[in-house]
Amino acid sequence: MQRDLQPVTVNSIAYPVNETFESLQGEGSFTGTPAVFIRLQGCDVGCPWCDTKHTWRRDIDAMVSMEVINAKTGEAVETWTWFDLQSVARIVGSTRARHVVITGGEPCQFDLRPLIALLEAQGCRVQVETSGTYAPQVSPTTFLTVSPKWHMPGGRAVLDAALSRADEFKVPVGRQADIDRARDRLAPFDGVALWLQPLSQSPTATALCIEAAQRYGWRVSLQTHKFISIR
Ligand code: SF4
Repeated sequence: MQRDLQPVTVNSIAYPVNETFESLQGEGSFTGTPAVFIRLQGCDVGCPWCDTKHTWRRDIDAMVSMEVINAKTGEAVETWTWFDLQSVARIVGSTRARHVVITGGEPCQFDLRPLIALLEAQGCRVQVETSGTYAPQVSPTTFLTVSPKWHMPGGRAVLDAALSRADEFKVPVGRQADIDRARDRLAPFDGVALWLQPLSQSPTATALCIEAAQRYGWRVSLQTHKFISIR
């Protein structure tokens, strides 16, 4: 049973969190950077190859306590709960990382500015990973990774408001058409780093990415965390 996908206010601003964990950023411009990840619950984009399908729905039945969320160790399960700003800041402050990645799900469903302001005041750099299907509500200094999801079953359009704010693009590639579409749609944003990411580390997709990177001067992102078996 899916319920309200809007953020709510529970005496203060709160966000639905699936998990938090400390690791290394495995993709894109910050590959190898120690980071703390905040994974928000909820996504209506519907990518068939999504590897976080457990974050799509926000079922009331899957709502648990903050302690249960904090005790997670990488299980891909639908449990989630509301975290207020201070709870997120406390978790981030308890880690060694000063790079915070807000991911999902689709984090740009929410106004992230209050959370980012608090984290930046704590001395953190914040990166947000989005599909580009919501207008990003982030601080001017947020590093925005846009992984455009065109023509997905959820029917959401990729917005110019997201593309024009991107600090980097990360394009999932399964076939040549994905590369051709990125070349056509992202041409107006020349100068923004464009990473091609082969889906599921498929050898065929990887070969396509390498060829296109060499042809167009783009880059290849390899989800390095999966090669060293970390989250
Ligand atoms: S936008 Fe991200 S979280 Fe949502 S379905 Fe696509 S890959 Fe999964």
